[in-house]
Amino acid sequence: MDDLIYDTQPQASHFVDGAYLEDTDGIPIDVIYPATGEVIGRVHAATDEVIDKAIESGRRAQAEWAAMSPRERGRVLTRAAQIMRERNRPLSILETQDTGKPLQETLVADATSGADALEYFGGIAAGLTGEHIPLGADWAYTIREPLGLCVGIGAWNYPTQIACWKAAPALACGNAMIFKPSETTPLSALKVAEILHEAGLPSGLFNVVQGAGEVGGRLTTDPRVDKVSLTGSVPTGRKVYAAAADGLKHVTMELGGKSPILIFDDADLEDAVGGAIMGNFYSSGQICSNGTRVFVQKGLKDRFVARMEERLKGAVIGDPLNEATNFGPLVSARQMEIVEGYLKAGVAEGARLVTGGERLDRDGFWITPALFDGVTDEMSIAREEIFGPVLSVLEFETEEEGIARANATEYGLSAGVFTRDISRAHRVIGKLEAGTCFINSYNDAPVEMPFGGVKMSGVGRENAKAALEHYSQLKSVYVRMGRVEAPF
Ligand code: NDP
Repeated sequence: MDDLIYDTQPQASHFVDGAYLEDTDGIPIDVIYPATGEVIGRVHAATDEVIDKAIESGRRAQAEWAAMSPRERGRVLTRAAQIMRERNRPLSILETQDTGKPLQETLVADATSGADALEYFGGIAAGLTGEHIPLGADWAYTIREPLGLCVGIGAWNYPTQIACWKAAPALACGNAMIFKPSETTPLSALKVAEILHEAGLPSGLFNVVQGAGEVGGRLTTDPRVDKVSLTGSVPTGRKVYAAAADGLKHVTMELGGKSPILIFDDADLEDAVGGAIMGNFYSSGQICSNGTRVFVQKGLKDRFVARMEERLKGAVIGDPLNEATNFGPLVSARQMEIVEGYLKAGVAEGARLVTGGERLDRDGFWITPALFDGVTDEMSIAREEIFGPVLSVLEFETEEEGIARANATEYGLSAGVFTRDISRAHRVIGKLEAGTCFINSYNDAPVEMPFGGVKMSGVGRENAKAALEHYSQLKSVYVRMGRVEAPF
């Protein structure tokens, strides 16, 4: 395994102006493999000099990039997508080392999802146009222009995907981007930068700088930055949004959630259980859109809990680099402590722990998938985002009640409905306060579909054509064809 680690590690802490860059004056950040707790690498937080170089090279490169034809820009992105797919395995191994997620997952959900974004926005770039507006004898037209220099700040659960979901639309629209990964998972974004440059991206257009929130804060408040796109928690979102507002910068906020899944009596039980597994235990439950409040209608509830308990026995917990493993550790000791705290709170507040929730007696940050039954709306496990493998079952009786309780949260990222009644499926989805919804499925995130939240879960959308709106701005041009009439 050591060979794999050192084969795939990036060469330095930062990637700036087309090359790896080191500055050991920055605060050291250890990279820890969550499966064992071992230190597998070290990067250094960006110093003022590194940040300055990233900003200056980004601004310089952006002006030239924006002047290129969108088709030429798109070609670079689609080439990068191809390289990323060809290197899926080493990139997946690195992602597994960075996050602890099983290779079985990273092989299909990380670099591949990043490549999908690069391919999609690469393809769509040439179609970026304004519109013609007829006004009788006169007319107007709009030009879709880039915003300038964008900053992307990532969470630790999907480092490659988050970097690509932000970089691909930003670059397609003619912007430059500086990306700051989470200090917990600093490695993979450097590989994204390497690949983009190998694909022909001019130097300076995608820079990666390391550091904790403080580096993110300096980027967010710099007047040379035009936009900030954050994937993170609601508390961080509030801070970053406020800081960006001071400079009237554009923002995209992809924040946390406490999403509901409504499972009606007539649902297909196996699909409902499968959907709830995908919405609670994939990536060890560390997914923002997870449906962690599973509302099950009274007639199906006991069978649902029994079947879930049975299917959880299929979790293969072990070495994440073994492709048979389908459940890995939590990302850090800190995250494991947070999850343990919620497990204790769930029991103390009266929920019934059906199975799981045990800390494994081994190195690394391991907690087995936990299933709670008898959860009520006021319990902390039903109100607060846990970001771990903890599924709460809440019983409901009527459709109206289910909808009202599902909506009784400050969050609004995702929601799911399982039912065989097609009218009810659409009716219920229509009433759920969430940005990204699923019918008889959960947690699919194809690049073609807009992704994002309402209420406290976010501002703006990533992916699909919707993302283009958030990385470009319109210039409107009025064209008078006749004489100008003035009062004097
Ligand atoms: P955090 O909010 O702790 O951090 C997110 C990023 O913001 C990190 O890179 C962090 O740096 C940085 N940061 C922290 N403070 C500041 C600041 N003042 N200014 C600028 N940047 C700052 O989230 P986590 O990394 O713990 O990720 C988990 C959270 O992310 C969950 O709430 C989850 O729901 C949410 N999330 C949302 C997704 C979505 O698309 N809606 C997807 C994935 C996760 P550092 O951590 O290095 O200090």
